[in-house]
Amino acid sequence: MLTIENLHAGYGKVEVLHGISIEVPKGQVITLIGSNGAGKTTTMRAISGMIAPSAGDIRLNGERIAGLEPFHIAKRGLAHSPEGRRVFATMSVADNLLLGAFPRLTGSRPKGDVAGDLERAMELFPRLKERRTQLAGTLSGGEQQMLAMARAVMLNPEVVLLDEPSMGLAPILVEEVFKIIGRLKEQGVTMLLVEQFAAAALAVADYGYVLENGRISVHGPAAQLRDDPAVRAAYLGGG
Ligand code: ATP
Repeated sequence: MLTIENLHAGYGKVEVLHGISIEVPKGQVITLIGSNGAGKTTTMRAISGMIAPSAGDIRLNGERIAGLEPFHIAKRGLAHSPEGRRVFATMSVADNLLLGAFPRLTGSRPKGDVAGDLERAMELFPRLKERRTQLAGTLSGGEQQMLAMARAVMLNPEVVLLDEPSMGLAPILVEEVFKIIGRLKEQGVTMLLVEQFAAAALAVADYGYVLENGRISVHGPAAQLRDDPAVRAAYLGGG
C-alpha cells in the first residue's frame, strides 16, 4: 500500500503540488486525472524520488520513502514507468527488461525468479517477445512505451506508477495498453495510473482522484467519478 499525505513539491522556488493526499491500496488500480499542467507527472516524480518533496509524507507499506534516492525507492519495490518512452536505446529489449529487475537483486526483498518473470513479461507483451534481441532505440514509439511498462513490471513491484502509458499511440495500441493494464490488475498488480484518456482510465480503475492546479479537487470510486456531471464535463468529453 502506498500512502501520500499532504505532499508539496515543485521545481526550484515554484511549488506545483500544494498538499495532495492519495492512497493506493494493495491490489487496486488508482487513477489520477487532470488537465495539462495540473501536476500529474510531478506527483509521479515526487513519489519515485526523481524530485524531492518539500513537505509531506510518502509511505510504502508503512515505511517512509519521501526524499530517498530513486534507486533506494525502487529497491523497496516501487516501479516507475515514466512519461515519454525512456528506454535504454543501445541495449536490447531483453536487457532493458533485465535492468528493470536489477534493484530487486540488491535490496532486501525476495529476489524471486528473474528468468521466469522475463518469460512472463514476454507473454504479456507479445510485441516485445518478437523483438527480444532488437535494440530498444530501433523500436517504434508504441513498442518503446510498452517496453517501459514491461520494465517496470520486471521489478515485481509492490506498486507501479504508470505515467501516460498510452501517450502518442495509435488507437489500436491504446486499446492493447489498456488490455495489458487490465491483465496486470487481474494478476493483483497495484497501480497508480496517470492517463489522458480519463474514461478508459476510470473504466479500469477502482478509485480516482482529480488533480486541479496542484490540489485534489474531487476523489471517489471510479464509477462515481464517471457519473459526476462536473467530471464528465471537464474530463470525459461533456454530457
Ligand atoms: P501534462 O499532462 O501536460 O504532462 P501534468 O499534469 O503531468 O501535465 P506536470 O508535468 O506535472 O503536469 O507539470 C506541472 C507544472 O510543473 C507545469 O506548470 C510545468 O510547467 C511545471 N514543470 C514540469 N516540469 C518542470 C521542470 N522540470 N522545471 C520547471 N517546471 C516544470
